[in-house]
Amino acid sequence: MKQFIRKIFKYCLVFFLGGAFLSVPATDLLANPPEVSSIRIGHTKNNTRFVLDIDKKIKFNIFTLANPNRVVIDITEVEWKSDYGGASGKGLIDKYRFGLFKPGTSRIVLDVKEPVRVHKSFIINPNKNKPYRFVIDLKKENKKNFEASVKKPSLRPAKNPRLAEPDRDLKTGRTKKLIVLDPGHGGHDPGNLGGKKYRGFPEKTVVLSASRAIKRELEKTGRYDVIMTRNRDIFLKHRDRSAIAHNKQADLFISVHADSIANPKVRGATVYTLSEKASDHEAAALAARENKSDIIAGMDLEEEIHIVQSILIDLVMRETMNLSSSFANELVPQLRRVVLVRTRPHRTANLLVLKGLDVPSILLELGYLTNIYDAKILMQKETQQDIGRAIVKAADRFFNKTYVAN
Ligand SMILES: [Zn+2]
Repeated sequence: MKQFIRKIFKYCLVFFLGGAFLSVPATDLLANPPEVSSIRIGHTKNNTRFVLDIDKKIKFNIFTLANPNRVVIDITEVEWKSDYGGASGKGLIDKYRFGLFKPGTSRIVLDVKEPVRVHKSFIINPNKNKPYRFVIDLKKENKKNFEASVKKPSLRPAKNPRLAEPDRDLKTGRTKKLIVLDPGHGGHDPGNLGGKKYRGFPEKTVVLSASRAIKRELEKTGRYDVIMTRNRDIFLKHRDRSAIAHNKQADLFISVHADSIANPKVRGATVYTLSEKASDHEAAALAARENKSDIIAGMDLEEEIHIVQSILIDLVMRETMNLSSSFANELVPQLRRVVLVRTRPHRTANLLVLKGLDVPSILLELGYLTNIYDAKILMQKETQQDIGRAIVKAADRFFNKTYVAN
């Protein structure tokens, strides 16, 4: 009996912690990342040395970019305690900047005055009173050799992404990108019901069916692993949805929905990203509709938002929002090829399901259930596959581009 009570207690505790803090455990985000205490540059006539003083060992990956010539250094996510920011360099380094590239990876970009080659890069273990030092030695290089060394696919999306070598993620060690698909609503929350005249399927059914098809298309490529936040007709709170993406350290989060509007003629897909202010009143109304799920579940939204915001670091949010917009910009033209998209297809709104998430994320409204044509095609296998393939193309382009921190 005692054991039984203990078990119940444990379960309740897990449930409580899960409910309250699951989506953004502070320990995960702030688990003592290595700290950079100073950045130094030394130089001789032909050699420039760039040094980071750091309190823990880090992993690194270095590549070069041309036009303008740059050396890009990706390292384990770090805290920057240094005063330098967008500072001017010395020797072969003109300027440099650094920041969080994506969760788990910090990026340093060295703008170089002329073509260079990375002569050496290594980590010196701490000795005496000195911390770990991460050292990069740059030497002058002729233009031809430099251009040959440049990592070409990082400048533009690879022509055939299948051939691009999978980069191993510095934090997760994965070679496949992990995408979390989030079919909206479910259970006692049907979502949009469509028009009175058209008795189609409710939103929760349409988006689950479409998400399954999108998952199949993504997995078929061999480049993506996909997790669904729900794979049956069940209710999920917004925060439990984003928690899955956060806890699994996903590379992309796509919440899938289908909209409704008073005018039955309106149809087409829309891609939403998060912002405090809605891009227009229609987007604001949409956010109100989509955010309602948690009210249905009887949650205190203000408190939820407060918990999330107090934990998140500004920089993570900014970087994530930029990446989310980049993905939205890749997705819109791909969608346009297969389905009708609305005018101004990329809109922004204060969407709870995307809020506080440290993973690039969008909310995709597939179309309007209040439009007879949309309601019909969105349940068709062909349309769902087409949308899946559009997402594959957009994801390929998104992950093959290098987004250099400004
Ligand atoms: Zn919805």
